[in-house]
Amino acid sequence: MIDPAPVKRTELSSLGEFGLIKHLTDTFVCEQPSTIKGIGDDAAVIDYGEKVTLVSTDLLVEGVHFDLSYMPLRHLGYKCAAVNFSDIVAMNGTPRQLFVGLSVSNRFPVEALDEIYAGIKLACERYHVDLAGGDTTSSVHGLFLSLTVTGEADKQDVVYRSTARENDLICVSGDLGSAYMGLLLLEREKKVYEANPDMQPELSGYDYILERQLKPEPRTDIIELLKKAGVKPTSMIDISDGLASEVLHLCEDSGLGCRIFEDKIPLDAMTIAAAEEFNIQPVTAAMNGGEDYELLFTIAMNDFEKVRAIEGISIIGHMTEPNAGTFLASNNGPLIKIEALGWNHMHDAH
Ligand code: ADP
Ligand code: MG
Repeated sequence: MIDPAPVKRTELSSLGEFGLIKHLTDTFVCEQPSTIKGIGDDAAVIDYGEKVTLVSTDLLVEGVHFDLSYMPLRHLGYKCAAVNFSDIVAMNGTPRQLFVGLSVSNRFPVEALDEIYAGIKLACERYHVDLAGGDTTSSVHGLFLSLTVTGEADKQDVVYRSTARENDLICVSGDLGSAYMGLLLLEREKKVYEANPDMQPELSGYDYILERQLKPEPRTDIIELLKKAGVKPTSMIDISDGLASEVLHLCEDSGLGCRIFEDKIPLDAMTIAAAEEFNIQPVTAAMNGGEDYELLFTIAMNDFEKVRAIEGISIIGHMTEPNAGTFLASNNGPLIKIEALGWNHMHDAH
């Protein structure tokens, strides 16, 4: 976890717009040769030479995408950046520059924005991404964050969602469902706190699932391992909305069906224990929870041995011809049709 926020209050108005931009961005250092001009002009100048440029944007709205009552601001900054980087990784590219649009009401002091930027900076440093610009405006209510990341890849390396082939193996990195269990835990403790503010939250012993919810990581390591092994995935997507929704994207976009095997889905022991505590099936958290930001990808059958040798990748099923449908083979026998309930459904359902 990252350190908690200090308690000092500097009004946004005391710095002014330009003073604030300078204050927030002054300590960021550009590392990438492709960043020819970062912050400080009307536009950033980026040079990728012969490579292709990947671009992805996320817009996050307070109360819709994040809840500041349990999401520390520093984690918010880190998470927004990390999930933005994950979109580039899911194209088999490397994130390089970040742009941050910030719209904020005077309910927030400068120190709050400092915390967000401290988290953004941590993510930028860890993944060697340059903060190369952004925009700053005031809002009437709440906090809005719009993050845009650029990345680079050799043209022949880019992996799309639409290019899986029949009989390709379906793989997933890390483990699934843990971020969702972390969310359920945070929401439970928030309710307890609202009912009785003297109660201390019961969060000890749950570090892993909390970290997965509050501080996800883009799997740059996995695409590097695959590259090193000489494996190019045939299709890929990152898991923001749950395995069900993402595998359906691969199937739909590639015009195929799939079989996934419940007993192959990677689950952490703490996810299983927490799911028991919350009386839900761990596989439901994996299929419909979301926010794991693991990579879901397909490989040619010929690459099976190479991928099997990589730690942290599970082979969970295979692509089928489209008429075979999209099914999960459950542990107790029957095939269950995979349907996209997605994160929103889960979130509204409890
Ligand atoms: P303009 O008037 O052309 O929009 P700004 O005064 O908004 O320019 O921004 C000045 C510089 O600071 C630009 O390089 C812009 O990309 C950068 N910038 C503005 N706001 C932010 C922010 N919240 N985070 C990072 N960079 C920012
Ligand atoms: Mg501007």
